[in-house]
Amino acid sequence: MENVIIVGTGCAGLTAAIYTARANLTPLVLEGRLPGGQLTTTTAVENFPGFPDGVDGPDLIMRMKKQAEKFGSRFQYGVVEEFQPGKPHRLKIDGQWIETKALIIASGASPRYLDIEGEKTLIGHGLTSCATCDGAFYRNVPVCVVGGGDSACEEATFLTRFASEVYLIHRRDSLRASKIMADRALANPKIKPVWNSTVTGYLTDEAGEVRGVKLKNLQDGSVSELALKCVFVAIGHEPNTAPFRHALPVDENGYLIQKQGTQTGVDGVFAAGDVADHVYRQAITAAGQGCAAAIDAERWLADSE
Ligand code: NAP
Repeated sequence: MENVIIVGTGCAGLTAAIYTARANLTPLVLEGRLPGGQLTTTTAVENFPGFPDGVDGPDLIMRMKKQAEKFGSRFQYGVVEEFQPGKPHRLKIDGQWIETKALIIASGASPRYLDIEGEKTLIGHGLTSCATCDGAFYRNVPVCVVGGGDSACEEATFLTRFASEVYLIHRRDSLRASKIMADRALANPKIKPVWNSTVTGYLTDEAGEVRGVKLKNLQDGSVSELALKCVFVAIGHEPNTAPFRHALPVDENGYLIQKQGTQTGVDGVFAAGDVADHVYRQAITAAGQGCAAAIDAERWLADSE
C-alpha cells in the first residue's frame, strides 16, 4: 500500500513529488507515455522564474526529477489503465493493480490533431505536433504550422532554423498568441502567414510521406494546394483523463474539476496541472498546483490517520 501515488512527470507531477518526498511520504511517481511531459517537447523556456537567460524545457524537467529523486521519490514507468476510487484507491498499471491512500493526478494534456481522415497514419510521415522533436529533419524545405496560439508561434519561429519557409496557417486573420510571441513570429521573414484558412486534407507521395496540404479559404470558400514537406499541428490539447472520467467530475471538455484547493471531490484524490487547467496552462502554474496538491494530500493523510 502506497502513501501517495503521483500520476505524471511534467512540472505538476515532479513538483508534487518534491514536496511529498520532503514530507517523508516516499511517493511512487508514474511516468506515462511522455515522461517529463510537454516541456520535453519545447525549446527555450523564457518565462520560468529564476532563469533570466531562459532554460531548455528538457533540462528544466531533468533538474526537477533529480530534485525529486534526491528526497526519496520513486519512479516507475506505467500507464494507468483503470482507476477504482475507494479506501484504498486502486490503479491498474500494465495489468497489475496497485493501491494507495492518496492519489495526485498530474497526467497533463496531449496535443490535438485536425481530425482529418487518415491523419493518424501520417503521424511520423510528415505530420507531427512537435517541432523540437522533428524540426531538424526538414532542412531547406517548406513546412507549415497550423494554429494561431503561442504554441504555433513558438513552433514556427523554431522551425525557421531549419526550413526554407514556414507557412503559418490560421483559421482567422489575427493570432491568439501573446503579443511578444506573435510579433516575433510575424517579423521573421521566413514565416509566411496564411490567414482565414483551414487544412482540409493531406497530400502524400508514393512513399506515403506528406507532400502538401489542401487548403480552404474560409472567407471566399476557395480551395488550393500548398506544397510542403511537413505539417506541424499546434491547435491546443486534450486532457489525459480517460481512465478517471467515470469516477471523477470533469468539465465539458474533459478536464478534471478541482472542488476545493486541488481536491477532485473524491476523498484523497487531488488534481494538478494541465489535466485540470485549461486557463493558465503554464509550466509555473502547473508547478504551483503540484505543490498545492502535495500539501493538500499531506494534510489529508495526516487528518485521516
Ligand atoms: P491555444 O492558445 O488554445 O491556441 C490554439 C490555436 O489553434 C488557436 O489559434 C485556435 O484558433 C487554433 N485551433 C484550435 N482548433 C483548431 C482547429 N480544429 N483547426 C484549426 N485551428 C484550430 O493553444 P496553444 O497555443 O497550445 O497554447 C496553450 C497554452 O499554453 C496557452 O495558455 C499559451 O499561452 C501557453 N503556451 C505558452 C508558451 C510560452 O509562453 N512559451 C508556449 C506555448 C504555449 P482560434 O484562435 O481561432 O481559436
